[in-house]
Amino acid sequence: YQDLQGQTVVITGAATGLGEAMARRFGQEKANVVINYFSINQDVQSLIDEIHSYGGQAIGVQGDVSKEADVKKLVQAAHQHFGSLDIMINNAGIENEVPSQDLSLTDWQQVIDVNLTGAFLGCREAVDYMLEHGIKGRIINISSVHETIPWPHFLHYAASKGGIKMMTETLALEFAPKGIRVNSIAPGAINTPINALKFANPKLRASVEELVPLGYIGRPEEIAAAAVWLASSESSYVTGITLFADGGMTK
Ligand code: NAD
Repeated sequence: YQDLQGQTVVITGAATGLGEAMARRFGQEKANVVINYFSINQDVQSLIDEIHSYGGQAIGVQGDVSKEADVKKLVQAAHQHFGSLDIMINNAGIENEVPSQDLSLTDWQQVIDVNLTGAFLGCREAVDYMLEHGIKGRIINISSVHETIPWPHFLHYAASKGGIKMMTETLALEFAPKGIRVNSIAPGAINTPINALKFANPKLRASVEELVPLGYIGRPEEIAAAAVWLASSESSYVTGITLFADGGMTK
C-alpha cells in the first residue's frame, strides 16, 4: 500500500502478539510506527531495528492505556517524532477466566479499564488530534469474536468487546463528516501469548480448531493484513464495520 509510506501509526500493546505483528507490517509498508508497550520488561528494541531495516521508522513509548495522561503521551510522541498521527490502533487488551458469580469488582474494572476505557481514550485523543490538524485519519479498534459470541466465564471480556463494537459504530457516524474512518477488527483464535497456555494443551488446541471452518488457528500476520487494508485508501469507502478475521468461526 504505497499510501501508507511515511504515515504515522500509533499501536497500543505492541510489544507482543497482534500489536507486534501489526507494527512489523506497518514497518514493511515504510510507515512511522509508535510502538506502545506496557511493561518496562518488554524489550521493543529488536522490533524497532527490524522496522528500520524495512525502511520504516519506529520509536517505543511505555504507557498504560487505561491512564489518560499516558494515552496523551502517545499522541504527543507521534507528533514530536513524526509530525503527525494518521492511524490509531487500539489493540492493548487483557483477559482472565472467572465464573461470573465469583467476578470481583476489581476483576471487572481491570478488564474494562484496559480493553474499553483504554480504547475510548485512544479514540478520543486521536480524533482530537486529527480534527485539530485537519487529518482524515483512520482508527482501528481490536475487538474480538466475543463482541458477538457470548463467552461464559469471560463476562467482563465479552462486555468490553461488545462495548468496542458500539463505540466503533458511534464514532464512525460522528466523525464521518470529517473524513475520519473508524473500524474494528474481530480476530478469532490467533496464535499469540494471550493464548499460549490454552494452545500448549493439544486437546484444548484441537477443540478450538474444531470451531474454525478454515480448520486452523490464525497467524498474527493475518490480522496485520486486515489492519493495513483498513488503514489504507484501498478501504476508502469502509467505515463503522467490524471486520471478522476468524476463519469463519462466527458463521
Ligand atoms: P497479547 O497478550 O500478546 O497482547 C496484549 C498486549 O497488551 C500485551 O503486549 C500487553 O503487555 C499489552 N497491555 C496489557 N495491558 C496494557 C495496558 N494497560 N496498557 C498498554 N498495554 C497493555 O495478546 P494478543 O492476542 O496480541 O492481544 C491483542 C488484542 O487482540 C487484545 O485486545 C485481545 O483482546 C485481542 N484479541 C486477541 C485474540 C487472539 O486469539 N489472540 C482474539 C480476539 C481478540
